[in-house]
Amino acid sequence: NRRIVLASRPQGAPTAANFRLEEAPVPQPEDGEVLLRTVYLSLDPYMRGRMSDAPSYAAPVEVDAVMGAGTVSRVVASRNADYAVGEWVLAYSGWQDYAVSDGAGLMRLGAEPQHPSHALGILGMPGFTAYIGLLDIGRPQAGETLVVAACTGPVGATAGQIGKLKGCRVVGVAGGPEKCRHALDVLGFDACIDHKAPDFAQQLARACPDGIDIYYENVGGKVFDAVLPLLNTSARIPVCGLISYYNATSLPPGPDRLALLMRTVLTKRLKIQGFIITDDYSRYDEFAGDMKSWLAAGQMKYREDMVDGLENAPQAFIGLLQGKNFGKLVIRAGAD
Ligand code: NDP
Repeated sequence: NRRIVLASRPQGAPTAANFRLEEAPVPQPEDGEVLLRTVYLSLDPYMRGRMSDAPSYAAPVEVDAVMGAGTVSRVVASRNADYAVGEWVLAYSGWQDYAVSDGAGLMRLGAEPQHPSHALGILGMPGFTAYIGLLDIGRPQAGETLVVAACTGPVGATAGQIGKLKGCRVVGVAGGPEKCRHALDVLGFDACIDHKAPDFAQQLARACPDGIDIYYENVGGKVFDAVLPLLNTSARIPVCGLISYYNATSLPPGPDRLALLMRTVLTKRLKIQGFIITDDYSRYDEFAGDMKSWLAAGQMKYREDMVDGLENAPQAFIGLLQGKNFGKLVIRAGAD
């Protein structure tokens, strides 16, 4: 059983030295347990937070423990009457080839799912995050302008496409011309601005001639700085992620803009709301129903960035925090 453990806690950006690949015996299921083989492993930005021991909404991974992760796995041995060998499940096995489970927290994916890895992205946690954040907090109305940060990742691409379905003008923000072309040509956004362009803020202003009614926040930093002056009265900001800060070891250098932010919140009557999707999965079925029908109707496009080999997970994860992924980052860990 190959597994990747947290070797040390990163200072700033994670490096290969913060991870260690180990060999261990394949665990054996006890009565009531199943043995799961990881087929696909999800790499997600929140894992950076778990590598640190700073207080957060979730407990950190212990040093020398296996990195946690959602997986799509197959049952390869079963001593649990509810699960047969060969079944596909969504699990939380972590960065390793095999794990045992007593069935708690497993979700069945059917006998032969058409796209098993979609359970880690468009039909799973990131897709659900986009759905709840945009619809419940963003509350899009036809004709409004929606700006989406990190707009080619699984959360951003889904939020933007739902915005289009609700009749919004959707302006994406992404890193580089190739991602921006994808946002226009494949995702069907009305505009996409490259945040690496020197005149990014001016380009964003030109792309939002009627201001911004909803900003789907995934990034923070200079993207938020460019959005702030363009916000309309009663704009909504679902604060989903702040990836540009995840590797930070201190607050950004001044000037302190808190007064500017709070004055804008007051005078523009802004609604800024953070949310953590794992708090409440009660509407997952409603989301899955909507998403499956949008996918079946060809109204929702989904791009994966599939990397082969569990051993490549650390490098792929380091790249995720630098924008090197293009689409939902998934490790193909084993034979399917
Ligand atoms: P993505 O696949 O979008 O990956 C992250 C992307 O963020 C990168 O590809 C890059 O895109 C962009 N990025 C990375 N670093 C920076 C930076 N310094 N400045 C600007 N952009 C950067 O990931 P997800 O779709 O999985 O997640 C998107 C966001 O949603 C994250 O912030 C994540 O933490 C958050 N999230 C929150 C949840 C919640 O419950 N609140 C649940 C799930 C995700 P580009 O090259 O385009 O800049």
